[in-house]
Amino acid sequence: MSLPYHYTIQEASVLTSIETSTGETLSEEQLSVLLENPLFALEVKEALEEDGEVDIENGILKDSSFINTPMDCVLTSLIEDNNNLWKRTSEAFRPNDSPFNIRFSTYNNPIDTSSARTGIPDENGLITIRFHLANISSGGIDIATDIFHETFHAELHRIHFSNNSPPNSLSQQQFQWFEKMWRFYSDQNSDQNYVATASEHYFMAQYLINPISRGLREFDSNSQTLEHYKYPSWSGLESVGIRSGYISRTEINNLSNLYSIVVNDSNTPPCN
Ligand SMILES: [Zn+2]
Repeated sequence: MSLPYHYTIQEASVLTSIETSTGETLSEEQLSVLLENPLFALEVKEALEEDGEVDIENGILKDSSFINTPMDCVLTSLIEDNNNLWKRTSEAFRPNDSPFNIRFSTYNNPIDTSSARTGIPDENGLITIRFHLANISSGGIDIATDIFHETFHAELHRIHFSNNSPPNSLSQQQFQWFEKMWRFYSDQNSDQNYVATASEHYFMAQYLINPISRGLREFDSNSQTLEHYKYPSWSGLESVGIRSGYISRTEINNLSNLYSIVVNDSNTPPCN
C-alpha cells in the first residue's frame, strides 16, 4: 500500500491497523474514503478492534453484539436488495456525503420498554442506533419498521445539526416547521435526546408514514397494497398522530386489521 506523500505517520498507522484487523488490503476506493475522512477512519479502527464489522463505502459500523442478530439479517437484506427507502434514508451517512455515520448496536435495560433508541451524534458525528435485546420485534416486517424508524431519527438528527445540509435536504417549509418543534421542546426540557425524539416523532407522523409504508411494501415484495403496510409505520407514533389529528383510534384499528392480512398471507418476507 503506498500512501500519498502528505500523509502523516499517525494517520498511516490507523490505516495499517485497519488492514491488520481485516486481514486484507484496502481497495483504492476504501483507502481514499478513509484518507478524506480521518475521524471516520478512527471509528472504523475502533470498531474492528472490538470485533465489529464495517461497511466503509456506506459509512455503516456494526458492533459485535449486533452481528448475526435478526436485525442484522434485515439490515443486510435491505442493503443487498437495494431497498429504495433504505438507500435514500441512509444515503447521507456515506463518508463522502456528510460528516455523519451510523453505528448499529444493542442494549439491555429491564425498565426500558422501547424496542430501539437512536442517540444524538457524538463529537465525531457518529450516531448510534441501539436495539433493545429484550424487546426485539418478531418478524422481518416489524424489524424493518424499527430499522426505518430509527434511521429516520438519525437522518433527522443530521438535518437539525447540519442546518438542513444536502443530500436530501427538507423543503424550507418542512425544515422551518421541524426547527420550530425543536425550539418548542427545548424550552420545556434540557435533555437533547428528549427534544430530538419528541420533535422528530411529530415530523414522522406528519410526513413519513407513506414513505415508511412504501419501504415496507417493497421489503415484502409488494405483496399487498400500500394501505396494508401503514399500521406498522404508525408504531411508536400513534399517540402523536392522534393528538395532532392526523389519524384516529378507529383508523388505526382498521389499519391493524389490514396489516393482519400481510402477516397471514402466503408471501414470506426476508428474515421471518
Ligand atoms: Zn422514535
